[in-house]
Amino acid sequence: MRKQKTPGKNKSIPRNKDPYMKNKIRVSLRGLFSMLVVLSFLLTLGITLLSSYRASNELMFERTLETNRSESERVSRTMNTLFVSIRKSLSAFTGEIASQTPKHDAEALREKLKLIYRSSGYFSSVFAADADGKVVELFPGTTDSDTKLIDADALEKASGRKAAALSSPYIAQGGEMTVLMTEPVYGQGGVYLGMIGGTISLQEPNLISGIFGSNGVDRNGSYYYIVDSEGMLIYHPDKTLIGRNISDNLVVQRLRRHESGSGEITNMQGVSFLAGYTYVSANRWGVVSQTPISVLMEQQQEQIRRTLAASILPFVGLALGTLFLARRLAAPFVLLADQVVRAAKRPQDASIPAVRRHWNREADLLNRAVLLAVGEMKRQNRDLIDSAMKDPLTGLMNRRALDEALEKMEGDNRPFSLLIVDIDRFKTVNDRYGHTAGDEVLKAVAHTLETTVEARDLCGRYGGEEFVVLLPGRSVLETYEMAERLREAVATSRNKLRIPVTVSIGAAISPLQSSRSEDLFELADQALYRAKKGGRNCVVV
Ligand code: GH3
Ligand code: MG
Ligand code: MG
Repeated sequence: MRKQKTPGKNKSIPRNKDPYMKNKIRVSLRGLFSMLVVLSFLLTLGITLLSSYRASNELMFERTLETNRSESERVSRTMNTLFVSIRKSLSAFTGEIASQTPKHDAEALREKLKLIYRSSGYFSSVFAADADGKVVELFPGTTDSDTKLIDADALEKASGRKAAALSSPYIAQGGEMTVLMTEPVYGQGGVYLGMIGGTISLQEPNLISGIFGSNGVDRNGSYYYIVDSEGMLIYHPDKTLIGRNISDNLVVQRLRRHESGSGEITNMQGVSFLAGYTYVSANRWGVVSQTPISVLMEQQQEQIRRTLAASILPFVGLALGTLFLARRLAAPFVLLADQVVRAAKRPQDASIPAVRRHWNREADLLNRAVLLAVGEMKRQNRDLIDSAMKDPLTGLMNRRALDEALEKMEGDNRPFSLLIVDIDRFKTVNDRYGHTAGDEVLKAVAHTLETTVEARDLCGRYGGEEFVVLLPGRSVLETYEMAERLREAVATSRNKLRIPVTVSIGAAISPLQSSRSEDLFELADQALYRAKKGGRNCVVV
């Protein structure tokens, strides 16, 4: 049984029987296209992501370092200005206080302190101390009960220096982190009279948190911290860290050497930051602005994820489009292969495959060229078959075609009659008129036989001047009648050369006499012999 091939599934030629395909990997156009698309997409995406990652990484690092450096500088400048101005608000009064000190006018001194307190607004308390460092007057409050904001240690150190001083931060008795700022008071002739000073609270709400805002961490994870000259944390968004000494920190060490700058640093907990740091000359503190690298990396990864997500849809579209196009491109080749294989498998099928136009120029050209060639091949094949089955002189079926037809009728068990028609004394025709005239007579007899039989009957030249006529489904009488008709037609027809011609006919009937063709030929031949014997131009059944 012949299997039906599905067009589009190019399996018409078994791979192992195709010499060109043996042991070779076959890649479909669709597969190739898809592979190319996926590869080029992945490469493009990879290269784009990598290069943009590198560029943005570098840029982000540089920008963050620069931002942190300028931020620390800005804060430091503000703080410097602030502390210079606080100090000015103290030093502005030292002359006046020096002139009053010999009079020991406590009330006037208190008024001055009140003025300093009110005018500056930075101090939580303002005081005056004598040359021994003892607080003699204080505002607000009284010297008896309200010196708790003043650290005794800081006071003693300041008194000892006899110069402008700013203490290290300390926790005042009220629990607030505080610094002590003092200005010496010198009388006439440079006699040290004592000092005036003020306590400045670093706790909220106050000036420092006023500078940074109360919540120091922004959305990049960036924040500030401030250390004093000893490396102690004065300000940090994490309040629990305030008061801790972090002088082991690399940045703090640089600040203590009065350096400013920026760089990547790792803190004592092993966390890496991009930091900018600036030394504040007015109070010898240091301001650090820093961003954790991990936060920056996360932001960058998020960016990559978003890029990937955004490119998925175009990719799927591209892939589907390519698959569709590849399919459309490959379709004519697959169809063509299928048509050619079918044409090759059924050479007897005379129909020529229809040429379909295709939008792809190459496919169209190939399609037309191949189908033209197949058509030509079919035509030649048909001609070959014709010439193999036809008698060239008369155009009737030849002996081979007759044998095949007979075999088929025999195989189908169809009843039929076999006539052998032999021209009478044909040798004499040749002898008398010549061989060419003989050929003309053969053609004329063939024509007469062919036009006299019915459509269902078959007529052929069996050899020489012998013809065979096959009459399907005839009774004895019908056979005789048809044979008689043929004989009479030949005898009465006129050929071009007006040569009188008659035929003798011997007939045999299947399956009445036999079903085997050899027997039928034998019987018909015997009948013909009898017809010749009987005087020719007659029929014997
Ligand atoms: P009979 O009445 O007994 O059949 O006599 P006949 O002369 O027809 O019989 P025979 O078999 O002796 O002669 C047949 C002749 O047919 C012999 C041959 O020269 C001639 N012949 C065979 N084929 C052709 C052909 O193709 N062309 C021509 N012109 N003559 C042919
Ligand atoms: Mg003969
Ligand atoms: Mg003859």
